[in-house]
Amino acid sequence: MATKAIRIGIGTDLHRLGPDRPLWLGGVEIEHESGLIGHSDADVLLHAVTDALLGAAALGDIGGMFPDTDPANRGRDSAEMLAAAHEAVQKAGWQICNLDCIVAAERPKLSPYRQRICRRVAEILEIATDQVGLKAKTAEGVGPIGREEAIGAQCVVLLEKAD
Ligand code: MG
Repeated sequence: MATKAIRIGIGTDLHRLGPDRPLWLGGVEIEHESGLIGHSDADVLLHAVTDALLGAAALGDIGGMFPDTDPANRGRDSAEMLAAAHEAVQKAGWQICNLDCIVAAERPKLSPYRQRICRRVAEILEIATDQVGLKAKTAEGVGPIGREEAIGAQCVVLLEKAD
């Protein structure tokens, strides 16, 4: 059976918010009184993008590539992990068509950072800024995100066979 040379992938992630942590979203440091807790720098958006890419190429997930049991991954820069995942995807013969992302955060307001985040994600992936979509949503005060206990992110990515 012939298969079309495109693949779709989805990624989702959520990290708890806590005091005395920097807040990294999409490789951009965001000014806020709390930050995300995690083994790495806890950049929830880059983790969702990484999982979407790996999933689209059937290459597993971020936890398989960078186990949190490995001390080398403590405090690791998520941009570096995303770049490594992208390299694996490229080696498997795929290139990115586009990605679309959602960050769910009650606070802070992300609209002032939207362009910077899109530019940074595009830079990490060496693609054009208009290949990166980003929406910021609140949770209307409901649930862990609405209570500002966590920030979540989702990403879908479309890959095509590289020329
Ligand atoms: Mg994560």
